Amino acid sequence: MMTLSEKINSAIRTIPNFPKEGIQYKDISTLFLRPDIIQEIIDASANALKEHRVEVIAGIESRGFLLGAAIAAKMQLPFVMIRKAGKLPAETYKATYDLEYGSATIEMHIDAIRQGSRVAIIDDVLATGGTALAASELIKRAGAYPIVSSFIAELAFLNGAKKLEDIGIQCLSLVKYQ
Ligand code: AMP
Repeated sequence: MMTLSEKINSAIRTIPNFPKEGIQYKDISTLFLRPDIIQEIIDASANALKEHRVEVIAGIESRGFLLGAAIAAKMQLPFVMIRKAGKLPAETYKATYDLEYGSATIEMHIDAIRQGSRVAIIDDVLATGGTALAASELIKRAGAYPIVSSFIAELAFLNGAKKLEDIGIQCLSLVKYQ
């Protein structure tokens, strides 16, 4: 019997030098062709998040939406979209963060999360942690608590988990790449 992380590892495809030289791109499109594994990921993630008494699930566009909404439905919790700049129609909080080249801005509706809620951040891959950190700022601006983050895979050598754990956000990931 394969463990869940072995199944995920065998279904994720690594594309060398995409989108640029030196990056080992973790392609989850092949993982999503396997509904049996996706179901297990949803169940395992929901179970793990239950222990943190999470009240809201926040997914980061775009790939954080794929599992985030499914986990939220399974846990019967509200799902909040954290989107790239310019996509959300109502009033938003904005956070800008540095990428390797340039910067990016993400947004969240100001009325999406009730003050004082315990929030989980969901994305597909944890790399440097910059995106999840920016998401946590939006959640704090709303007066809520980003307490845990959950990823399919973590690029452990980039130390993103430390960045998040240093500000009190636990990191859960099903596969770690060293
Ligand atoms: P981060 O550096 O943690 O802010 O990662 C930024 C975003 O890029 C995350 O939403 C990841 O989904 C994505 N990402 C970063 N590195 C990779 C990679 N090697 N393979 C696939 N996705 C990646």
